[in-house]
Amino acid sequence: MRLSKTLLPTLKEDPVEAQIVSHKLMLRSGMIRQLGAGIYSWLPLGLRVLRKVENIVRQEMDRAGAQEVFMPAVQPAELWQETGRWQQYGTELLRFRDRGGRDFCFGPTHEEVITDLVRNELRSYKQLPANFYQIQTKFRDEVRPRFGIMRGREFLMKDAYSFDLDQESLDNSYELMFKAYQQIFKRCGLSFSAVEADTGAIGGSDSHEFHVLAESGEDAIASCSNCDYAANLEKAVAGWPDVVACRPTAQMQKVATPNIKTIDEVAGFFAVTPDKTCKSLLVETDEGRFMLLLRGDHELNEIKAANFLDGDNFRLMEPEEVKKLTGVGVGSIGPVNISLPIIADLSLKNSSDFICGANEDDFHLTGVNWESDLPRPEFADLRNVQAGDSCSRCDFGTLRLDRGIEVGHVFKLGDKYTKSMGMTVLNQGGREQTPLMGCYGIGVSRIVAAAIEQNHDDNGIVWPIFLAPFHVEILLINPKEAAAAQLAEEIYKQLQESGLEPLLDDRNERLGVKFKDADLIGAPLRVVIGGRGIKEGAVEVQSRVDGSSEKVALDKVGELLINRTKGLLQES
Ligand code: ATP
Ligand code: MG
Repeated sequence: MRLSKTLLPTLKEDPVEAQIVSHKLMLRSGMIRQLGAGIYSWLPLGLRVLRKVENIVRQEMDRAGAQEVFMPAVQPAELWQETGRWQQYGTELLRFRDRGGRDFCFGPTHEEVITDLVRNELRSYKQLPANFYQIQTKFRDEVRPRFGIMRGREFLMKDAYSFDLDQESLDNSYELMFKAYQQIFKRCGLSFSAVEADTGAIGGSDSHEFHVLAESGEDAIASCSNCDYAANLEKAVAGWPDVVACRPTAQMQKVATPNIKTIDEVAGFFAVTPDKTCKSLLVETDEGRFMLLLRGDHELNEIKAANFLDGDNFRLMEPEEVKKLTGVGVGSIGPVNISLPIIADLSLKNSSDFICGANEDDFHLTGVNWESDLPRPEFADLRNVQAGDSCSRCDFGTLRLDRGIEVGHVFKLGDKYTKSMGMTVLNQGGREQTPLMGCYGIGVSRIVAAAIEQNHDDNGIVWPIFLAPFHVEILLINPKEAAAAQLAEEIYKQLQESGLEPLLDDRNERLGVKFKDADLIGAPLRVVIGGRGIKEGAVEVQSRVDGSSEKVALDKVGELLINRTKGLLQES
């Protein structure tokens, strides 16, 4: 590609709207431009990278035996009504009507569409297992689209759906996808981690997310220092260290605590550490209202709580609602003499002599103990793990927390969709059987941003070779210098003919601008042609990866660039 004939609008300054490195660099290097909130156009440079990711994904999916299909983005409401998701999906689902007044949505995902397709086309167990995938535009009306294409509203996803006759076969399909994903992210040059993920409303079966570890990640990932346990914070479970058994020593007392509301204030007032206090939270689901108890130094994990309570529409009650229900402010509610079902976090099981709200404004209770002051409630794991907690899988490790960007998700769905949509095949015995399903997503466009988060320096992007939009940038110092221009053309052709992808900066631009842009664009190799070098019979070859440079004789440079690039491609 010739820069003089390419739309590659680089920017000198960081755009104000961009908060994270990948968003800044994608705008600055002219990869993308925003059309509306969470909606982006891909310019030539960006599209080249996106296509590279797509190709890697496609190759590995094909290799794993999945079949490529391409399904409509626009989906009729009837399908979503069959599975109940027309109601459940909420405002992330972009809904609209056609001229005949029929309801449609723009697909955020395709379980309904694929299940509809296969229920009409697959008839026999002999056609299973089957796995269908597509690389396609999705739309989700995200509450907070941000970070450029990292969390867009319109984005490119690879989604795959497997159909198996029984659990063992589903386990096998899942495993195949798991391995294909490892291969895909490795080839994309990403340092990633597969972590256990919450299965939410669908419940029960396995789910893993693939995370690229980066500061800007929106998810928290817990991992063990000793074993291979890793889980999304939403799901992570801490081990229970041998704590001293509950040893009540104090009598419950009511103490005036004027204007003392938060846990820190309470702990400060009584001169104790926050773990000696107990937090009371009121929540509501379709099944009713509950009081949840946590140790003062712990945070509620709403997903665990919602899963445990099992009712739909879990939510924390607003302070005004709490006041209306109990007659006291949120800072003063507590579990003693409250007429609500109580569920306490496991870590409170052995607590004794703790401090909690007194259900009277500006009063707290101290020296509270199970049994003597209130019945032992039901206990459950309700909290977020914290850095330093012990591991639940091994005896020695402690957990650490990192930030992660979710680039992929694999999920055993079971019969949720096949059952509700009446998909069956004839089994060996000639009977109708409902197949089990798995679904497997990859954020193709998000990978581009995630790769930049992990591969950049102060000057721009440093592309891993397999995602690089160009393998080599040929930086022609002055296009009017005939001998240099001719050499640049020759190298450009030579690289193209050997299957590499060169970028020729043949613009009439200041040298400083050319170097800055080259750093920004981030081709792994660069050759600088012109000026004194030509007269001396040499050009300079530079590595974007380690900044090293060397002088190479004019007649050797093409071959050297080809060998170097091929070397990089083989190493990766
Ligand atoms: P998230 O928790 O980030 O919203 P999700 O759990 O909703 O992700 P899935 O439904 O599993 O995501 O979608 C499959 C993949 O699509 C995700 O692993 C992620 O890489 C990508 N993805 C999801 N939402 C977006 C988005 N708004 N913008 C870009 N990529 C996305
Ligand atoms: Mg989402």
